Amino acid sequence: MSPFFHRQHLAAAAQLLGSAVVIAGFLTSAPARGSERDSGAEPTAAHAEAPRKSSRKAESEGKAKAVSDAPSKAESRASPTEAKGGKPPAGDSLEAIRDRLAARLGAATVAPAPAPNVVKVVSQTTTTRSAATTTATGAATLVANASPGTKPSAFVPGRVIGASPAHTARLDSLQQQAAISMAGLEGLHWSYDGKAGPAAWGNLKPEFATCSSGARQSPIDITDGIKVELDPVQFDYRPSGFRVIDNGHTVQVNVAPGNTIEVTGKRYELIQFHFHRPSEERINGKPFDMVAHLVHRNVEGKLAVVAVLLERGSAQSVVQTVWNNLPLEKGDEVTAKGALDLSALLPTDRRYYTYMGSLTTPPCSEGVLWMVMKSPVQISPEQLAIFSRLYPMNARPIQALSGRLIKESN
Ligand SMILES: [Zn+2]
Repeated sequence: MSPFFHRQHLAAAAQLLGSAVVIAGFLTSAPARGSERDSGAEPTAAHAEAPRKSSRKAESEGKAKAVSDAPSKAESRASPTEAKGGKPPAGDSLEAIRDRLAARLGAATVAPAPAPNVVKVVSQTTTTRSAATTTATGAATLVANASPGTKPSAFVPGRVIGASPAHTARLDSLQQQAAISMAGLEGLHWSYDGKAGPAAWGNLKPEFATCSSGARQSPIDITDGIKVELDPVQFDYRPSGFRVIDNGHTVQVNVAPGNTIEVTGKRYELIQFHFHRPSEERINGKPFDMVAHLVHRNVEGKLAVVAVLLERGSAQSVVQTVWNNLPLEKGDEVTAKGALDLSALLPTDRRYYTYMGSLTTPPCSEGVLWMVMKSPVQISPEQLAIFSRLYPMNARPIQALSGRLIKESN
């Protein structure tokens, strides 16, 4: 990642530190970070974590969307509140601290009228860099570790990913104080319960803001669909190589290129699929035992997710093949010897519901085309039990429909 002690950064930091008293006073008296949901509350963890994740896979569903979504989201928040968060996505480097201090300094000492401008400049800079960070983190979210050989040490749920001690130790006391005052949710990796659970996702990192501010989020309870003659999804799946990873949030299967779907005249390639228990989506209020999300992306970077609901019944061959290749440890990736034919995971009846939504995991990027198969596929109790041992509950709660249209095949 970026060098932590560039001379110029030191100089800049030193300048800012000249106003130490003002800043220190301001920082220590700063309101609780969570007090404004969209203030980009806790940037530090994002930055500490970003470098690790950026070494992971670029080809993620999260990536494409995060790139297109995050900047606008970040910009929409790049108003005065931004000054509170500061959001430097470059690790706890001096530069990052400097940005935060600068933002705060601007807010604290510049006259009201010019203040927004000063802050804006800082925010724009950080926003730009934040987009890059989001790319990395977003990428890690869904195609975690698609690149072989990387060790995703940050993927343990609930694990605290704070500032690296090595970095912190080099900060002077004021900077440490600043860092401490910003501690809170920022050190937490997102999870499905506890302090870093779904209700807090939007506050964990600036680039996760859409999780709380978005109005087109997933999953939803699918009700009142409009019955129309939907074009069938054209699946072109073929036996493919695959890698299985337990990424700390789910079991994910990264699939070799060559599997595509075509829907509404657009072609999407399958990138990965993964599981949730219970199903995230509900049909008329009813959840299913599990769901498989097959994540596709087109050349424009748009995402299309096919959801296959899984219910208790007979054994499922694709699921079994995946379970057979489960890695022993979180973060490890197993390259399977055989091939996987995903068409065997699809229901015979391929009628579906469709609506526009989001990723169901941070960064919760929107603009995702969802196609939920109406017919569930069966999975055996034993197969369910295996996943349950790893992830008893990894489903995001239902999100508001907010007037969105749902269409369904006749
Ligand atoms: Zn999913």
